Amino acid sequence: MKNSDSNIKKAIKYLNNDECVAIPTETVYGLAANAYSKKAVSRIFKLKKRPNNNPLIVHYYDLNELKKDCKINNIFISLYNKFCPGPISFVLKLKKTSKISKKATNNSNLIAVRFPSHNLARKLLKKIDYPLAAPSANISSSISPVSKQDVYDEFGNKIKFILDGGSSKVGLESTIINLIGKPNILRLGGIDSKSIYKTINSFKNKNKRKINVKMPGNSKLHYSPGIPVRLNVKKNKKKEAFILIKKRKKINKNYFYLSKTNNLKEAAKNLYKTLRKIKKKNYKQIAVERIPNINIGEAINDRLLRASKK
Ligand code: AMP
Ligand code: MG
Repeated sequence: MKNSDSNIKKAIKYLNNDECVAIPTETVYGLAANAYSKKAVSRIFKLKKRPNNNPLIVHYYDLNELKKDCKINNIFISLYNKFCPGPISFVLKLKKTSKISKKATNNSNLIAVRFPSHNLARKLLKKIDYPLAAPSANISSSISPVSKQDVYDEFGNKIKFILDGGSSKVGLESTIINLIGKPNILRLGGIDSKSIYKTINSFKNKNKRKINVKMPGNSKLHYSPGIPVRLNVKKNKKKEAFILIKKRKKINKNYFYLSKTNNLKEAAKNLYKTLRKIKKKNYKQIAVERIPNINIGEAINDRLLRASKK
């Protein structure tokens, strides 16, 4: 985190050369590259072993930058004013004049965009004249990284540079909302669906607009720790790692707490870190206590459910 200005300069040097660098964001670490360059974007897919038909989220500094590539509408503006920069992504239409590489969008004229709030990500985006395609900096379908070390554990020396920005504050991916036609949430994440609902419903003379929460084609992605996960467990089996949302009186080496005080935000921040820790300790199975399905608990449960599927 020290020398962040000179590290940002280093990152920019690589990015200008069509290389990928890992960058910190408030959600998770991203594997970033110039979204206008086919060569750079192709490198992301190769490094992540990501299927070509899974498009990338493109990161912008602000609305003015976004307008160069995307068409916007009033609902977008109200959500942008309320939540950005922050952990929310929008699916919008590309302008005909957009310079975004077709590779980033799987040849579609729709694009997912986001405005990260992490100060190093913002400093970096401000200094370059192209947006950054940046999916999570992990091998496809494994657990997203929330620290520099996690990124290193995923890629080793295969990536040229990791910009260290400490631990990701949110710890889960962004909420993705599709704004083409009737708004619908494609993925739960850092901003809870109720808050988004509220903003959309208060838009336009309190016109009652309902949004769908629709889990998309990305349900194939597992966010998988690579070992079986059982959910809503009251008592763990012997030798099973047990993830708990609040502290218990009994001391047990197999217990892993997401939060000291039953705090869901803290639990979200610790979820991926805890899954990685359990894997490193060579447990063969994970049990998880029931997590309240409110606020960011919705997104935690979404990821755990995917992790529990084979
Ligand atoms: P990641 O950045 O790895 O967390 O994944 C990005 C997510 O955004 C994936 O689930 C994609 O399916 C989704 N995504 C990216 N672009 C689009 C798009 N144009 N329409 C719908 N979903 C998208
Ligand atoms: Mg990902």
